[in-house]
Amino acid sequence: MKNLNAEKLWSTALSHLELEMPKANFETWLKNTTALSLNQQSLIVSTVSPFAAEMLSKRLMPTISRVVDNIANQSISIDFKVSVNDKKKSKHVLPKTKNPRLEKKYFTPIKYTFDSFVVGESNELAYESAQQIANSKSIKFNPLYIYSDVGLGKTHLLHSIAHSLSAKNLNTRYITGETFTNEYIFSIKEGTIDKFREKYSNLDALLVDDIHFISGKTQTQESFFHIFNELFIEGKPIVIAGDDPVDLAEIESRILSRLKGGLVVDIQKPNYETRIAIIEKKVSMANISIDDEVIIYLAKTCKNNVRQIEMALNRILAFAQLKNCSASLVLAENVIKGFRINNKSEHPSIEDLLLYICKYFDIDISALKSSKREQKLIYARKISYYILRQDLNLTWSIIGKVIGNKNHSTVLQAFRSLKEDLNNSPLVRNDLQQIRNQFDF
Ligand code: ADP
Ligand code: MG
Repeated sequence: MKNLNAEKLWSTALSHLELEMPKANFETWLKNTTALSLNQQSLIVSTVSPFAAEMLSKRLMPTISRVVDNIANQSISIDFKVSVNDKKKSKHVLPKTKNPRLEKKYFTPIKYTFDSFVVGESNELAYESAQQIANSKSIKFNPLYIYSDVGLGKTHLLHSIAHSLSAKNLNTRYITGETFTNEYIFSIKEGTIDKFREKYSNLDALLVDDIHFISGKTQTQESFFHIFNELFIEGKPIVIAGDDPVDLAEIESRILSRLKGGLVVDIQKPNYETRIAIIEKKVSMANISIDDEVIIYLAKTCKNNVRQIEMALNRILAFAQLKNCSASLVLAENVIKGFRINNKSEHPSIEDLLLYICKYFDIDISALKSSKREQKLIYARKISYYILRQDLNLTWSIIGKVIGNKNHSTVLQAFRSLKEDLNNSPLVRNDLQQIRNQFDF
């Protein structure tokens, strides 16, 4: 504790949290936070909005506290405060990253280009197809649909295409399904739908990331369908990234058949050799030195996705700096040990899962299983049904039975209602992610 100042403590905590939390959570709530002070056992951290402060204090505090206490080797109370300056800034511009975590010695995210993308067996086809779109004058297929699990390079490839096409002065737009939806809703509210459509019809190329976000959103899909058709007929390249098409049940079939009508390629998990190559690339691009055995250790430990590799690397470097020592194998092993690398597919017991959900929502398990109609309990039950169904593959009747003998249709109705909530509310998505994260779902 003696050598810790607020910045060091918080930046190390952030590098842990980045590794432990779903990306969306980290980026939304934690990325732009800064440590303000550390007095005795109290750490004050500034956030950019009151909403973020509330979210961090209420929902994410258990995880954050555990991580901070671990680093400091003692119990620290944490206070999230909205910083007045940050608040002003956040209205119009994204706050500049003053985060020491991202300075010099730390691994910094590299611009996503073809040059920084490591090609291996797992992603060769996706890479070649992306290059075709980026480099050739006449396209051989349209659209290109790239799918994979998270953290395997879809966004990286879409950005790379966007950089290449924009460099040729082509009017190119990269957009996520979420931003597309928000823009569409905004244009309806403001009565600017014509402008919205025009922006797209003037494009030379369209790249849509995380298309699954428009699942279940009928009107947004309608609008997307027209934009897609217009560009498609004119032979403008369209590249889409998202989930495996078989999982896109709530995307209209006419859109799905368009998406599948061009070239569909997937990205698999990288094999050992590719993982080594990726780590070496990241290390050399970030201009840092790290023992070879650490590279091998990382490649052997982090098997599931490249984002996880980057986070682990980041964490090792943060620790090395904190302790003022080199990034050795012993350090790497110690740093990674505390973090559950998601390589196992063992399922937790139902009881463990329900107990965790109760702890998360601060309720009693008997209340969860009761028929009480408090909002909090209804919500926790819905989340429980959802996870038991989606992640543990239990039947409706077993789910009903384990949560206080509810009948089949009650469970099904609640499940559907939660599905809708998930489409509409980032807070609900966050709760679900937090819980799933705990169990490596
Ligand atoms: P996805 O969009 O599929 O979830 P991303 O494109 O965001 O994944 O990739 C996650 C991280 O891993 C990014 O920082 C990206 O640069 C990196 N990454 C993924 N695949 C590769 C690769 N083949 N070579 C270099 N970096 C990669
Ligand atoms: Mg992505």
